[in-house]
Amino acid sequence: MKSSKFKVPQGKKVKLSDYRTDDTGDIESKKDASKLLKANTKKMAELQDRLYAHDRYGLLMVFQAMDAAGKDSTIKHVMSGLNPQGTQVFSFKQPSAEELDHGYLWRIAKAVPERGRIGIFNRSHYEDVLVVRVHDLVKFQKIPDKFDNDGIWKERFNQIKNFETYLYENGIITIKFFLHISKDEQRKRFLRRLDIPSKNWKFSEADLKEREHWEDYQKCYEEAISATSTDYAPWYIIPADKKWFARVVVSNVIIDTLQSLKLMYPELDGNQKRNIHAYREQLMKE
Ligand code: AMP
Ligand code: MG
Repeated sequence: MKSSKFKVPQGKKVKLSDYRTDDTGDIESKKDASKLLKANTKKMAELQDRLYAHDRYGLLMVFQAMDAAGKDSTIKHVMSGLNPQGTQVFSFKQPSAEELDHGYLWRIAKAVPERGRIGIFNRSHYEDVLVVRVHDLVKFQKIPDKFDNDGIWKERFNQIKNFETYLYENGIITIKFFLHISKDEQRKRFLRRLDIPSKNWKFSEADLKEREHWEDYQKCYEEAISATSTDYAPWYIIPADKKWFARVVVSNVIIDTLQSLKLMYPELDGNQKRNIHAYREQLMKE
């Protein structure tokens, strides 16, 4: 299955209701999906090894979604076969007092992966045009009055695009995943959290309150995705009602992205290459 099917082309005006949440493509069962994911995991590990050795690019994956869409479990499953040494995960919560004393990209910039690494953002700078917009939290962000006006979201989309351009031109490739679930699927998952004792801890009354803002969030997501999906830092809208399908698609996107970078193992320099024979002899003699 082509991962480009889920990519949002630059300039496209997204309407989320046009995107299916329950698509399972040409995969027939959970069992088939897990086989595909296993094969993909092997490919990702190989590509990660090259990324590390090549040491020119880093990969930044941003995960955004409504509550209970499966960010955590997708991250867990998709990353399970990678070398922990080359990966890092950051989760972004309500900003601290220190973070609020800086621009919203400050904490983000500090968490960007270095070259050779794969970095994952569980939530991200996009919260600053989503939850902050839905709940009118800008007033806590200490923005000078003259910039705190209705135009701020458009400005933030531009700031984010500029930031991601900067990352791109410095070798950090950003890909952004929106795990797309239906409102009814969220309801089912919340109920499961209440019904199953080992899942109770995942339930939070606050999530139920957020659910009341479902339509607002969808609208903010639509605007943010439409404004910031670019050729160099694209958004992917991943049908996520079936977690097993979402995982396969995400892993496909990662593989396609890494393959497009033409990562090569560095070669030995000429002098060392000429001496390979001598080095080997030296070791064999021991
Ligand atoms: P969770 O991911 O369930 O641990 O929840 C983290 C919470 O932090 C979510 O409700 C996010 O919306 C919230 N959050 C993340 N970033 C920001 C931000 N920049 N401003 C306000 N709330 C945020
Ligand atoms: Mg939560």
